[in-house]
Amino acid sequence: MSFIKLEGINKYFGGQHVLKNISLEIEEGDFMTFLGPSGCGKTTTLRILAGLEQQEEGLIAISDKLVADGQSQYFAPPADRKLNLVFQNYALWPHMTVFENVSFGLEGRKLPKKEIKNKVEASLQKLQILDYKDRYPSELSGGQQQRVAIARAIVTEPNILLLDEPLSNLDAKLRVEMRAELKRLHHELGTTMIYVTHDQVEAMTMSTKIAVFSEGEILQVDKPIQLYQYPAHLTVAQFVGNPANNFLHATCTKSSNSSFIIHSDLGDLVMNSSWLEGFSDDVVLTVRPEDLVLSRTPQKGTVQGTVRAVLPAGPETTIHIQCGETVLLAKQMGIVNYLPDSTVYVKANLEGLNLYHPNSGHRLNKVTAHQEVDLNVYV
Ligand code: ATP
Repeated sequence: MSFIKLEGINKYFGGQHVLKNISLEIEEGDFMTFLGPSGCGKTTTLRILAGLEQQEEGLIAISDKLVADGQSQYFAPPADRKLNLVFQNYALWPHMTVFENVSFGLEGRKLPKKEIKNKVEASLQKLQILDYKDRYPSELSGGQQQRVAIARAIVTEPNILLLDEPLSNLDAKLRVEMRAELKRLHHELGTTMIYVTHDQVEAMTMSTKIAVFSEGEILQVDKPIQLYQYPAHLTVAQFVGNPANNFLHATCTKSSNSSFIIHSDLGDLVMNSSWLEGFSDDVVLTVRPEDLVLSRTPQKGTVQGTVRAVLPAGPETTIHIQCGETVLLAKQMGIVNYLPDSTVYVKANLEGLNLYHPNSGHRLNKVTAHQEVDLNVYV
């Protein structure tokens, strides 16, 4: 059984159905991120898990122990769930020093003074703010205040740490730094972390698993790289990735028992039938910008396009190309120069393609075993 289990959670605010049958399993030690646009129910799910909000339907179990049941209206108090929450607005006590803010979490545990001091200092050290222990929150930068809030959350050694957009008040540079710090902290502590964000880069770079939310539902739960390469739904394919995915209207015809052809502005692509799980005549074809191969002369399998714009960003260049009715985004490593309005030849890397049903939005192609990539394999 999973460490944390949510089963059939439904939540209403007034007449608004904000969580629709949310079911999710989280393993011990996971860094699970709830990702999705504003208002899709991420924070509400986190608050229900923490015991700060109550669901009308559904169960929650932590370590095999039932902590909430909507039907019988049983809700264990937050303090009995062995978890701690870090909010977006640090919620530090302004009249207490950094040391006092962090030690506050240990009050009521009747620990010897020396042990409290050791625990607080160890947690400040982990967040690299021990030198600031005698300062007041008003004497700290936003980034330092956020570190104090995290130090306060980990000092009690919770089994589960819940983080609700903890980096959103920081400037872009600090956010990137703190991502690395949080990932390191997760590695050091081994604590199960559940992290809420609408920033897909944050989710991709830090998580062991991501749950993508949309309008109160979970569309996909997967490892970040799987989510990126094989979005299960068009909405996920749209939400994850920068520059954005390319979407092409396409039609699919069977050419033989063992193959079929996808016709689109990328030409006619012949695929093996075993690649498909479902079939539809009209499909949406997606290809990531880095899976488009460009050449200046026609090659086997290329289609002709016209360069509309070239956007060099230093490490990579994004090129906008008109191919038939579609404007494609291609990403090339380094600085690449194409003249606007010049002709370019485009080909898709077949391994980077996904097909979707145009109405349901569900992916039609399989993820085969050899395509599964696990970034948690260390070399
Ligand atoms: P954000 O990223 O903006 O924080 P979110 O995905 O975390 O968004 P929630 O905060 O969970 O979304 O909100 C989900 C829906 O529930 C929204 O439509 C929101 O307006 C509504 N909602 C949240 N809390 C309450 C509340 N206390 N009373 C009424 N409606 C609420």
